[in-house]
Amino acid sequence: MTAKSHPQALTTHPLADDAFHEECGIFGIFGSEDAAAHAVLGLHALQHRGQEAAGITSWDGDAFHSERSIGLVADSFTSERVVHGLPGHAAIGHVRYSTTGESTLRNVQPLYADLSSGGFALAHNGNITNAWHLRRQLVRQGSIFQSTSDSEVIIHLIATSTFRTLLDRLIDALRKIEGAYSLVALTREGLIGVRDPLGVRPLVLGRLGAAHILCSETCALDIIGADYEREVAPGEIVIVTADGVRTLAPFPPARPRPCIFEHVYFARPDSLVNGMSVYEVRKRIGAELAAEAPADADIVIPVPDSGVPSAIGYAQRSGIPFELGIIRNHYVGRTFIEPSDQIRHLGVKLKHNASRWQIAGKRVVLVDDSIVRGTTSLKIVDMVRQAGAAEVHMRIASPPTRHSCFYGVDTPERSKLLAARMSIEEMCRHIHADSLAFLSIEGLYRACGHEGGRDGTAPQHCDACFTGDYPTHLTDQDEEESEQLHLLATTGPQA
Ligand code: AMP
Repeated sequence: MTAKSHPQALTTHPLADDAFHEECGIFGIFGSEDAAAHAVLGLHALQHRGQEAAGITSWDGDAFHSERSIGLVADSFTSERVVHGLPGHAAIGHVRYSTTGESTLRNVQPLYADLSSGGFALAHNGNITNAWHLRRQLVRQGSIFQSTSDSEVIIHLIATSTFRTLLDRLIDALRKIEGAYSLVALTREGLIGVRDPLGVRPLVLGRLGAAHILCSETCALDIIGADYEREVAPGEIVIVTADGVRTLAPFPPARPRPCIFEHVYFARPDSLVNGMSVYEVRKRIGAELAAEAPADADIVIPVPDSGVPSAIGYAQRSGIPFELGIIRNHYVGRTFIEPSDQIRHLGVKLKHNASRWQIAGKRVVLVDDSIVRGTTSLKIVDMVRQAGAAEVHMRIASPPTRHSCFYGVDTPERSKLLAARMSIEEMCRHIHADSLAFLSIEGLYRACGHEGGRDGTAPQHCDACFTGDYPTHLTDQDEEESEQLHLLATTGPQA
């Protein structure tokens, strides 16, 4: 739904495409002589979490400095001029990816506001599921929004809070929001990191000499030679100032629900997530998959890059040789414009090419991490057949993705998810495979270190994309659905 069709539209609807599904990476550092340069490196390591825009804000003890731009980190942040324009011992940074729609500079983070307590810069990973609801209230009360990003709601809630200190105002604001958020914020006093009460999105704490770092994944610590200290606990607020690090736990204790999809696809394999090596978890996922869904085949081939660790696990457990039968071109940008159907069809070979020399005449097990719309699987299976495969058995290293994510991972609306529309047999025919199998949810939990599988009464992760079990209210979604029903009831179905 867009602002135009919204019956009570006050301004651009935060559920409009340019603000909705966001995948992001965040980085903050305090106490470093090279804060901005470290932030640039950290964002490079987090680039897989968002490729559309990047930004850094620094504080030099006197003023805040900010550089934000559309594009990759390497496009805008490699020149000395840019880094010198971000002086100071403290900085926060953000990489953002929004799926479709315009990506305007006003939505690029860190966001910044002059509050009564002084300057406040904010970078957010996740999605607030009552952002539109709160935004409507705030706009009615006089707040003037600068962006369509759900994250800006947090700034307005802080600005309008009746509490006195910034920390109390922040806590007051966070108590009003639902959904998933890992935040890093920069103030005149220091760096603040927050993880939502369920810990849906990741946030880790690290150290480099006297400097403290808060970032989405440990690979951003590795790149600057920092030590990993620990995960920020769900519901924890970490405050880093010149006096050191202190932490607050202002929310009622809740059973954590970290996102299981970080293990399946999102996090980099060299990161630790929930204290576990993502690479090792993915290999175990592949081993579980081989045990659950064996195939009579000659070779195991991953769909690179996301399918590689689970294909290794599959090959090791099944004893079927692993081959890199598909080669990925790493230099293709996301933004390649495909001008005609014929060229669009060729487009797939820009990114992946199947190597006939490994494949011809072989019965192939193809391993990928997930099927979303099914476009990739269909193209890859056809490509492997064209390369001469005798049989193609598709194995997916996660359960069928049947539900949208409202917490910051880009999954399209339900109607576009192949597994929400088709049975597994239908999907198999659709992607032209000889057989298709997915990992079970229990197998996925076992691979993630839960030997007894998923706790049905109190699941250990957020797995809503597979189960539809959403761990928070979805206020905006519910209100939008009831408004649509109301519209239908009053105006009849729209053409
Ligand atoms: P699709 O072609 O829509 O079925 O997409 C499936 C492919 O997209 C798989 O190869 C995944 O590695 C990748 N993928 C899965 N989830 C996401 C996501 N949230 N954002 C971007 N790519 C994804």
